[in-house]
Amino acid sequence: MPPRSESRRGRCPVCAKPETDAHKPFCSQLCRDRDLLSWLDERYRVPVHSDEEPPAES
Ligand SMILES: [Zn+2]
Repeated sequence: MPPRSESRRGRCPVCAKPETDAHKPFCSQLCRDRDLLSWLDERYRVPVHSDEEPPAES
């Protein structure tokens, strides 16, 4: 009987630590939030071709 897939444990996609059962596939609530935030950030960072120049630095 093979050992219980100990090595098949996933890793947190955010910080690469071993995932925890409570926060799969992340290691903690913190990483969970971070992943969500980065995901939302990606959405808002949709490339927009604007004709307007960004405001000059002041
Ligand atoms: Zn993590």
